[in-house]
Amino acid sequence: MSQADRNARHTARMARKKAHVDAAIAAAQEERGVLVVLTGNGKGKSTSAFGMVARALGHGMKVGVVQFIKSRTDTGEEAFLGKFAEWHVTGDGFTWDTQNRAQDIATARRGWTIAARMLADPAYRLVVLDELTYLLTYAYLDADAVLDALAHRPAMQHVVVTGRAAPAALIELADTVSVITDEKHAFRAGVKAQPGIDF
Ligand code: ATP
Ligand code: MG
Repeated sequence: MSQADRNARHTARMARKKAHVDAAIAAAQEERGVLVVLTGNGKGKSTSAFGMVARALGHGMKVGVVQFIKSRTDTGEEAFLGKFAEWHVTGDGFTWDTQNRAQDIATARRGWTIAARMLADPAYRLVVLDELTYLLTYAYLDADAVLDALAHRPAMQHVVVTGRAAPAALIELADTVSVITDEKHAFRAGVKAQPGIDF
């Protein structure tokens, strides 16, 4: 095939593709808040959520973030995005660090009280519930109450939930679900958690 034939075929294929994409974009006209769930064992769940925080802030939206589980208060995301978003770090660390179930439950409920307030307030256009899945997995929170608050949040409010092993009911309720695969992680090659990449 000559180069000219190849170019002509490419142009025709791209025209068909463009018609297809344009039709799909034209068909998607609804505007409403979406529930995004970012789960799986690979790296990139929380950082993806914080990318959406940056996007929403760029559009002048009010943003609330609740970080469950995390005990670090020295993260780059909080230092930077916390200047513009309402930011709460409510965790005492991973359960294998605290080793105290009663304390974990009390902490989880403290965090959930803040989250529930945001989920009832239409002024928050984006709410990030970072590592919420663990609180459901370990039954630190009442799953029905959490799902109910998510389902009945303000119509235009977006919510992003992160954490491994998202329960089936949460995935069912969500509009967008991404499962990030752990293909490789530098930690397993002996690389420590480093600022800018890991926190
Ligand atoms: P990130 O915050 O980097 O987007 P994440 O939210 O997808 O990561 P978490 O399970 O919340 O993943 O883990 C948070 C911390 O653990 C980060 O420092 C991250 O680099 C690290 N981490 C994430 N996935 C893995 C993995 N598969 N193996 C080892 N460490 C990981
Ligand atoms: Mg995370």
